[in-house]
Amino acid sequence: MWEKDWRKDAWRELNTPWDIVVIGGGITGAGIFRRAVAEGYRTLLVEAGDFSSGTSSRSSKLIHGGFRYLRNKQYNVTRESVREREWLLREARHLVTPLGFIMPCPPDRHTAQQFAIGVVLYDLLAPKWQHYRLSREKILSICPQLDKPALSKGFLYYDAAMDDARVVLRVIQEAVAAGGTALNYAKVESLLRTADGRVCGVALHDFSHSALGSLEVKAGVVINAAGPCSDEIRAELVAAPRLRKLRGSHLVFPAARLPLPHAVTLLHPDDRRAMFAIPWEGCTLVGTTDLDHKFSLHAGEPFTTPAEVEYILRAADATFPSLHLSRADVISSFSGLRPVVNTGNPDPSKESREHVVWEENGLVSITGGKFTTFRIMAEKALQTAVQQLSRKVDFSTRKRYFERLQGLDVVKGLPDEDASYLLGRYGDETLRLLQAAREGENEHIAELPNIWSELRWAARTGAVEHLDDLLLRRVRLGMLLPDGALPEIDHIRRIVQPELGWEDQHWAAEEVRYRKIYNRFYSPAPTGY
Ligand code: FAD
Repeated sequence: MWEKDWRKDAWRELNTPWDIVVIGGGITGAGIFRRAVAEGYRTLLVEAGDFSSGTSSRSSKLIHGGFRYLRNKQYNVTRESVREREWLLREARHLVTPLGFIMPCPPDRHTAQQFAIGVVLYDLLAPKWQHYRLSREKILSICPQLDKPALSKGFLYYDAAMDDARVVLRVIQEAVAAGGTALNYAKVESLLRTADGRVCGVALHDFSHSALGSLEVKAGVVINAAGPCSDEIRAELVAAPRLRKLRGSHLVFPAARLPLPHAVTLLHPDDRRAMFAIPWEGCTLVGTTDLDHKFSLHAGEPFTTPAEVEYILRAADATFPSLHLSRADVISSFSGLRPVVNTGNPDPSKESREHVVWEENGLVSITGGKFTTFRIMAEKALQTAVQQLSRKVDFSTRKRYFERLQGLDVVKGLPDEDASYLLGRYGDETLRLLQAAREGENEHIAELPNIWSELRWAARTGAVEHLDDLLLRRVRLGMLLPDGALPEIDHIRRIVQPELGWEDQHWAAEEVRYRKIYNRFYSPAPTGY
């Protein structure tokens, strides 16, 4: 998609006025961008770092209603979310895929009854009917890892899984293919204002290797979708902060140590918070925590603190005692910040996940919500934003966000499972990706669903500026292979260095940067700030 010199071409276009500028290349900004372009608005998306490098590459990778929100009586969030899940399963085929959840019941009858009502309600809200009551024997026949004396009965219900960074990228790429412009490493440094103080554009700085400098971009309306940084953008308008940044962390285990046929819903032994163990991309994630983030956003990426590592390990050990999981089994960790609207609830997990859209001096801000509900969020934000434009659109009619894919049979010579995996992530580019491969590159990387040629393709067309873009977000080897995939770095280098066009010195500097990022924020015991 982004072939050589794309960035310079895009930068040259910026001087002319835009209908809409979207700040933030996470899922919220991506959704707004996609829908605005589909409606024919001249739209620019700008992202300070890499696409999806904020919260949107650090989620639990679920497209879900949020069963636990039922417990908190957040019925609206659950209803909206399960309906969006059903839409995404249909529209983003192969990228959003069904995932079963085993939910063992705690021994007390009251909670078990709540669970029984919950699975029925969850399906009725969708609406669909796909849940099952499981005896202890049935649970153990499906998932013997759950064996412990306290296990009684449980339920199996269905949500969906995804690769968050790849969903963001596909939504952005769909919008670019439809005529929009998106730039990563282009940071909004300040807002442009008219004489009467209304926001009328942004001052941008290019932080890519192309070092294209700074530029003022004029727009009919600016939408702030900067996630956890939204308050920082609003601060220029002297607007009071509205966000509560809640950190959530996960540990990643190799599937060989924690093999799961379905995800498992678990209650933490210390505080009975709902958590998940989730099979993902050939590994298993366990998380998440939910804590007020006390560090400054400028300190660096969020990371899993030693106390969180212990907390997650205790949950894993209590749920799968026969596996004796320990710190030594963890491959990696990752941590993200939920941009939740602050209502001051003493319990972070009870803070509402509803989204909020509002306007201040012409700046439209949107925050809260979930990855799952990005379409609804996009349409609500645009509904408010287009009030400032001369052409208004009715957003109640459905538009496609993901173009229809060809059938699996277009990918010849690969098992259906692999064809589905690639089509979901690369859409119509899949055949070109496979054809670009050199010998042996269409083979799997270790036990992962990924193939080596994904790296070549990402380096050639994926707007990769840094090694961490490639290894943490385009192809997620940094989280899925031991030691951040560094033992494979020479092999990776042979494939991608010529595509990236980096001199040896440049490569060496990128390797140092990547090691530092991995050790500080993604290793099994991140060193942090
Ligand atoms: P972000 O993804 O953070 O995007 C904002 C972007 O704005 C960033 O990339 C940032 O770099 C950019 N930006 C900031 N300042 C500037 C600037 N000045 N100029 C340009 N760009 C700027 N939801 C689900 O539906 N399912 C889940 O399984 C799930 N799990 C979660 C687990 C965890 C641990 C967390 C933390 C959240 C989870 N969520 C989940 C919620 C979901 O991930 C978030 O709601 C969503 O990703 C937020 O996306 P966003 O685009 O609003 O923010």
